[in-house]
Amino acid sequence: MTALLELQGVTAGYGDATVLWDVSIAVMPGEVVAIVGANGAGKSTLLSTIVGLVRPRAGQISFRGADILHRPAHKLPGDGLALVPEGGRLFPFLSVRENLLLGAFSARPGLDARMAEVMAIFPVLAERQEQMAGKLSGGERQMCAIARALMCRPALLMLDEPSVGLSPLMVERVFDVVERLARDEGLTVVLVEQNVGEALEVSDRAYVLDHGRVTEGGPAAALRDDPAIRETYMGL
Ligand code: ATP
Repeated sequence: MTALLELQGVTAGYGDATVLWDVSIAVMPGEVVAIVGANGAGKSTLLSTIVGLVRPRAGQISFRGADILHRPAHKLPGDGLALVPEGGRLFPFLSVRENLLLGAFSARPGLDARMAEVMAIFPVLAERQEQMAGKLSGGERQMCAIARALMCRPALLMLDEPSVGLSPLMVERVFDVVERLARDEGLTVVLVEQNVGEALEVSDRAYVLDHGRVTEGGPAAALRDDPAIRETYMGL
């Protein structure tokens, strides 16, 4: 089977500073893949590099078998690759519905049908669709950001630290949604997380990023049982 997303030997950074070193990862269709690591390990930089906001100095990145290194970032949602940035970055003075409409900018045909499908996945957003996004709770904001990304019917959804700033109950709800999307909608998910324990619970496979290098990779269940990972990343 061909990988949906593949990075080979990606080295990237900012100015003279190299943040990612020779990173190779593959995400197969239908998988939930976690990329876990400590604060500052380079997780957000990895996502920015995948979507073309940071240009790699070396390496290859392909999506659905095609090179996306030179693909402009704004074309990627239309290609099926959607990113939910850290904190969601909603437009706080626009309504929930308007935020979702902006997510569909490249998917106008079938817009009403898609809006109805997405609202059905998130009933709480359906109830609050006319409310300003800035008035939502932290958990609802994260749901709204995920819903916005789903509007363009992505094949791959990438989430940057969806658990940040949420209560443990809300973290659980958000991760339940991730599991449900993978199981019921056939979505492939890349989940970038500092919350290693929870991320390994919901993912099929995971990579550990440490100081910009992939130091471990494998089935999430095996990493969850690895004493070194438990001690370093889960405080156990
Ligand atoms: P966090 O959990 O804090 O978001 P992270 O694993 O996502 O951490 P990055 O945000 O990718 O890590 O940061 C990795 C390194 O790159 C850090 O040393 C950070 O200071 C640096 N960095 C991030 N963004 C920039 C930028 N725009 N310009 C320069 N350096 C940056």
